Amino acid sequence: ALDQEEVAHAVIARLEAEGHSAYLVGGCVRDKLMNRSVKDYDVTTSALPEQVIASFARTLPTGLQHGTVTVVIQGTPVEVTTFRTESKYEDHRRPASVTFVPELREDLQRRDFTINAIAMERSGRLIDPYGGRTDIERKVIRCVGDAHERFEEDALRMLRCLRFASNYMFSIEEGTWLALLDKAPLLRHIAMERVEAELTKMIAGTDPLRALRLLARSGLLRHTKIPLGAFAERIALAASEHPDPPSQQTASSVKEREELPERLHRWTELSGDVMRWAFLFAAVQLSPEEAAQGMMALVFPRRKSDRIVKLLEFKQVIDREINSIAGTSELSDEKLNMFFKKQALRYGKSNAQDWLAINALLVTFRGPYARLYVRLSDSGAQWLEEIALWDRTELAVTGAEIADALGREAGPWTAQMLDRLLAEAALQGTENDKSRLILLAQQYGKELEMP
Ligand code: ATP
Ligand code: MG
Repeated sequence: ALDQEEVAHAVIARLEAEGHSAYLVGGCVRDKLMNRSVKDYDVTTSALPEQVIASFARTLPTGLQHGTVTVVIQGTPVEVTTFRTESKYEDHRRPASVTFVPELREDLQRRDFTINAIAMERSGRLIDPYGGRTDIERKVIRCVGDAHERFEEDALRMLRCLRFASNYMFSIEEGTWLALLDKAPLLRHIAMERVEAELTKMIAGTDPLRALRLLARSGLLRHTKIPLGAFAERIALAASEHPDPPSQQTASSVKEREELPERLHRWTELSGDVMRWAFLFAAVQLSPEEAAQGMMALVFPRRKSDRIVKLLEFKQVIDREINSIAGTSELSDEKLNMFFKKQALRYGKSNAQDWLAINALLVTFRGPYARLYVRLSDSGAQWLEEIALWDRTELAVTGAEIADALGREAGPWTAQMLDRLLAEAALQGTENDKSRLILLAQQYGKELEMP
């Protein structure tokens, strides 16, 4: 099979044979020049969409209104977009309509940053009218043309600017930065889904702490529609570099500001956006409810926010137990072990493992019960291995069989009974044997009937 680069080259060759011009463009050229792995090969061409469609056996009209046709060769797709300009911008967002143009140069001119405005011929020769290659070498993010205009046209570009800067460890050219400071309030026109997508790429990227600081320094975060309140304040706290003015200082805020960078500095040891977000929320001590509210405002995909909330709930349960017991008496290893395992059974193995990974990076900071968190961090993984079963369905007996043996109608009680049996078999060494479990169920059943 052909890889995407080979398909892109085949597409360009074919379009050229038909008398059009065609080039690699955008992210793929930038990534090649930076020796990064290329995610997607995009082709830009003088051919009109209908001419592209006519030139290939298999195409998909993926973005016809923007001039984009996906060409599929041997199962591999490549996006082909007609040279275009974006004339009308409504509400500082991407334009609703575009105009096709005959010149590559005009197409490059509509792109956001010089590093994204380089085209490459099949031969490898670059067409780089805005000096993108030099900016890659100097590690600079710079708008194509007038930065004020570019951010005014499409406010999302400001977030993209910070993302490229923090993910590639580039600096931001001064004029671009000043324009960004000036236009920051326009970010409120951008849909929260798109804000979330950019933030998540920064959080999951190379230097999320720098990203947060750029967001704070630029004021961009304040100009999203994220409601003020615990969520925004705590995230801002993580990004803050300077102490509050003396009038606003409290002992705890000063202490937190000193500790936060220390807490966050191992952030990048976690991979994946879910783990990175969960770590951030845990480090700034957001409750599951506060995090859920913030993620709802940012329109996080449900699947992700559910996972993050579960992790924070798991953390909350552990924190509460450690606080309540350790405050009164010594929490013995054995008790901690059993409590942790019970919660792990309740929240599931992967949540427990993910929490352990987050906990391990958080325990470096001092706290009254640091010893207990260190203990969990040292032994938690091993304790999880001691759990014999993880799910009701692994029990040697079913709900129906238990109802039968007890001579009762199956009902909500059966599920509760199965959970009790599961805890016994998983944590107390009770054999996972049908008659043994039925005996136990009968015993519990009697207890239930007692007045
Ligand atoms: P990556 O895919 O690695 O995030 P990319 O540069 O490929 O980065 P895409 O969103 O895939 O980003 O866009 C492809 C190209 O389209 C960019 O390289 C840029 O030239 C152009 N582009 C994308 N979004 C914008 C925008 N908001 N304003 C102007 N040009 C843009
Ligand atoms: Mg891309």
